[in-house]
Amino acid sequence: MKNITKSTNLFSRASKYIPGGVNSPVRSFGSVGGNPIFIEKAKGAYLHDEDGNAYIDLINSWGPMILGHNRTEVVEAIKDRTDQAISFGTPTRYEVEMAELICEIANIDMIRLVCSGTEACMSAIRLARAYTGKNKFIKFDGCYHGHSDAFLVSAGSGVASLNIKNVSGITAGAIQDTIVAPYNNLEALETILEKQANEIAAIIIEPVAGNMGCVLPKEGYLEAIKVLCTKYNCLLIFDEVMTGFRLTIGGVQQLKNVQPDLVTYGKVIGGGLPIGAFGGKKEIMKQIAPSGSVYQAGTLSGNPIAISAGYANLKILKDTPEIYANLEEKAIYLKENLTEVFNKNDIKHCINQIGSMMSVHFGVDEVYDFDSSKKSDINTFNKYFHHLLENGIHLPPSSFESWFISDAISLKELDIIVNVSASFKL
Ligand code: PLP
Repeated sequence: MKNITKSTNLFSRASKYIPGGVNSPVRSFGSVGGNPIFIEKAKGAYLHDEDGNAYIDLINSWGPMILGHNRTEVVEAIKDRTDQAISFGTPTRYEVEMAELICEIANIDMIRLVCSGTEACMSAIRLARAYTGKNKFIKFDGCYHGHSDAFLVSAGSGVASLNIKNVSGITAGAIQDTIVAPYNNLEALETILEKQANEIAAIIIEPVAGNMGCVLPKEGYLEAIKVLCTKYNCLLIFDEVMTGFRLTIGGVQQLKNVQPDLVTYGKVIGGGLPIGAFGGKKEIMKQIAPSGSVYQAGTLSGNPIAISAGYANLKILKDTPEIYANLEEKAIYLKENLTEVFNKNDIKHCINQIGSMMSVHFGVDEVYDFDSSKKSDINTFNKYFHHLLENGIHLPPSSFESWFISDAISLKELDIIVNVSASFKL
């Protein structure tokens, strides 16, 4: 058994002062059981814990570390910026450069920088309400758009992992404003729209879902949603907080060639520092204060240090487009080899993968929405998680989360993951 004494002691200290011992529920081992590992430092493909153990990292800070940990260019950019700027609360050149870069890559007119994906998504909904004059919105079962009240109805990610049926503290009003549709089911969506379109401001979707495991949109699904949005006069919001600049440089909107009215970002655009953004067409975005009356603000929005890391991250991704093909090749290699070892060991499973995102569900043949994800064998996943952890591989601690491959992971690490998985028996 690995020595995790320091992690265990830190967790009991943390539990005294921090609810559940963690500052975000997804970090707890509430779903898989046991004691979360406290990480001291990381480099490249590896996390290093307080007890001196190393782990191949498939969490990658839940997405931002697409280049691996502490990539030199990103670290240097942060150090350089810190010499000149920490926070001013005034406009900066850095924000302008960042906005230009994102708008150019994402093919959008305007962008507002915020501090998290949650802020980006909740602000996009407010803007959609103002623009359409309607109050409700549609989200999909198992999608996660941050922890703002109205998004926590039928949410994936930590809400699903911890099996919280009804999140407390949310008003009936917020719940009534959220209409939930099953993912990948066009008929159900159209039925809702036929009845309620006059109340629905927007449809928000993870265009590739990553918060119920990795779930791909069926062929033509996103295109059809776009057509429905136009028909029923509601805005289409792609939540690309996870997929933006990860699946391709231009995200799912580029991959599927579907342009939403608004798009939200986070994670990769901050290179590991706190950031989020929402953007889209000028005629919609100009309604935001101070040019319009949709109030949205933030003391640390567009923070110079966060932008330095994010800008460096995006520049590398933009200037080395082959990264995306390499990432995909690695993910496919992992998927194919895991499939082989699970089959050899008679372990029924389903691996969904797209670009550098993937997830493994046990005991099921396919996962295409929240219900099919919930049918997977969580006990086997939990055993598999601990088998890997014990052997120096850190997966996200829930089958409702996606694994993220980073550029720093090489064939050597992939083979270790496959070999350790080969020794996993039911
Ligand atoms: N949207 C998606 C798709 C996410 O995956 C997340 C976080 O995991 C969010 C929004 C919320 O982002 P944040 O945690 O930065 O508030």
